[in-house]
Amino acid sequence: MRCSICGAKLKKEGDICVNCYREYQEEEDLKKDTKEKLKLNRKYSIAYEVARYAGLIILFLLAIIVSFLSGGILNGFIFILIFIGVFGFLLFWDKRIAMATQITFYEKKVRYTFKFLFFDVDKTVKYSEIDDASYFQTYRQKKFGYGDLCIYTKGIIPGSGYINGIHIKNVENISEVFKQIGQIVGPIKK
Ligand SMILES: [Zn+2]
Repeated sequence: MRCSICGAKLKKEGDICVNCYREYQEEEDLKKDTKEKLKLNRKYSIAYEVARYAGLIILFLLAIIVSFLSGGILNGFIFILIFIGVFGFLLFWDKRIAMATQITFYEKKVRYTFKFLFFDVDKTVKYSEIDDASYFQTYRQKKFGYGDLCIYTKGIIPGSGYINGIHIKNVENISEVFKQIGQIVGPIKK
């Protein structure tokens, strides 16, 4: 008799081996794990966006002021229109990306989803697969209490991009949230 999944020789009567059975059991447990313990979004706020694009805003304001002062009223208005268009687009774009990004912590797993335009990313990481977790903050993020959360996995997980694991930007209240995550995930086994 051989295991019908991996082909290993079976010591006892049956269809699948002990290893495959355990894997199957784990999968089933994960599917049942649907109780949401913590849900995080990528934060979007106008104040943060204004700070983020401060350089661009100042540049436009200067262009508008210079245009008006030098008598180029039409140019001034054109700059205002371009400014509204560019900044409006950036805000719209960042808001859509924030709305499309979500991460949910369950009892035993964390799930990341990103659905935007033709992107459709759906990653699930078991807590037992986590290798490390940390967060990063730029100077600007620190002022707003935001941070980029990174959860690294031991191996490559399906759907992962340039990092092994999960990465979500601009999580609000990151230092508090990170403590909560630590309590949910528990100690990381190396
Ligand atoms: Zn097997």
